[in-house]
Amino acid sequence: MSAKTKICLVWLRRDLRLHDNHALFQALSSGLPVQPLFIFDPTILEKLDSKEDARVAFIHQTLETMGNTLRDRQSSLWVLHEKPLAAFQRLVESDGPFQIAAVFTNRDYEPYARRRDQQVRDYLHEKGVDFFDFQDQTIFEARQILTKTGDKPYTVYTPYKRTWLQSLHPSQLTPFRGLSDFEPTRLATFPDAFPLPNLGELGFAPSAIPFPDHQPDTRVLCEYDRLRDFPAQAATSRLGLHLRFGTVSVRETAAMAQTVNETFLSQLIWRDFYFQILFHFPHVVRASFRPEYDKIDWRDSDADFQRWCDGQTGVPIVDAGMRELNQTGYMHNRVRMIVASFLCKHLLVYWHRGERYFAQKLLDYDLALNNGNWQWAAGTGCDAAPYFRVFNPWIQAKKFDPENRYIKKWVPEMGRPGYPEPMVDHKFARERALNVYKSGLGKLENNR
Ligand SMILES: Cc1cc2nc3c(=O)[nH]c(=O)nc-3n(C[C@H](O)[C@H](O)[C@H](O)COP(=O)(O)OP(=O)(O)OC[C@H]3O[C@@H](n4cnc5c(N)ncnc54)[C@H](O)[C@@H]3O)c2cc1C
Repeated sequence: MSAKTKICLVWLRRDLRLHDNHALFQALSSGLPVQPLFIFDPTILEKLDSKEDARVAFIHQTLETMGNTLRDRQSSLWVLHEKPLAAFQRLVESDGPFQIAAVFTNRDYEPYARRRDQQVRDYLHEKGVDFFDFQDQTIFEARQILTKTGDKPYTVYTPYKRTWLQSLHPSQLTPFRGLSDFEPTRLATFPDAFPLPNLGELGFAPSAIPFPDHQPDTRVLCEYDRLRDFPAQAATSRLGLHLRFGTVSVRETAAMAQTVNETFLSQLIWRDFYFQILFHFPHVVRASFRPEYDKIDWRDSDADFQRWCDGQTGVPIVDAGMRELNQTGYMHNRVRMIVASFLCKHLLVYWHRGERYFAQKLLDYDLALNNGNWQWAAGTGCDAAPYFRVFNPWIQAKKFDPENRYIKKWVPEMGRPGYPEPMVDHKFARERALNVYKSGLGKLENNR
């Protein structure tokens, strides 16, 4: 019987790049032949409503490109489609010509991912296979930025940001050497072992939604602080999708932000902030950060929710945002704030329903960021705007889309017959929201 080749796997998840990838760098430095691997996890795919989900198409397209790059180096990308634990059992117990000696991966902080990784780690440990995981997805991990007095997580952004900036060392933004910095002989050579299935085999179809470029125009970002709130301007990076799936590295993005615009860097700090909130307070996935807010009597009307989803509320800035989301998988940040506030405050729909709708539609959907921002908008989260601050969508539109350029793009029929009357009057809805929030919170006080 011929001897098996000992190899190490780099298990790629939301770090789909071959440059500045911490786990890949460590594997390439390990001395063992390196075999990159991606697993399509049915537990995640089965939750997607649309068979034309653009994110699956994006992952697929990215894997294809990565596979071609590896093939040029006489190697390959292995792609499996099964539950990760079963996939590792198959690989480790395979009678193929390889023997898995170690698995390298970058840490993923979502609750499901942490449970999954623990299971895989335990299994590999039992089989005598090393499992090494690394920090890659954020600049700081959750336990690295804690309050100075109590070693507690920060729940307010401004002091978190201060400590984040004070703690930052230039080495944290230095890229790791990538595939092209190593000899191709560092890679394993089992080209046809587990080829990329086509989208149809995964149960999906191509999407018509185009993907934004991964290289933003840095001249545009110089004006980020001045123009980022105006949805008619293309003044933001559009890196959300790439940061989500790791087709850009957060280190290179933060290093670029340091040179182009301080406010842009602050947004990346918000990203780290919400990652650490999810890590320390995983209950936020299903409930309000502040549990007392779950006592509120949300109206939760299905009909109202549907009109919001369809962009038929009669409030033009809200409808423009929802239609942009439905058609492109993107919505401008300022408009995300307006539509989220409108759903929770004006319509009194529980924030979680809006959060789930965004989760199905956003190309850049990220549990930590989506959840944190929804709870901020609903006033139920950490460091949230107080509930009595209710966005006026009409004033917001006047301020941030003064010539209706954004609105007219998505709601061309505005002001014409056929466009619905506003679902609610702002003054009435504001008063109603204040009363309902106040009495919900009061209920808890009375129960104490
Ligand atoms: C209700 C609501 C839901 C949101 N859901 C998501 C989500 O699922 N995924 C997501 O990436 N962003 C989310 N955001 C934050 C923000 O709207 C997007 O990151 C941004 O619009 C993406 O466009 P961009 O890449 O051009 O961002 P830019 O303005 O260029 O910012 C660069 C990056 O900084 C980070 N960032 C920017 N704003 C925030 C913020 N408020 N909180 C945390 N990180 C931020 C993102 O990674 C973003 O890609 C949400 C905001 C709101 C109000």
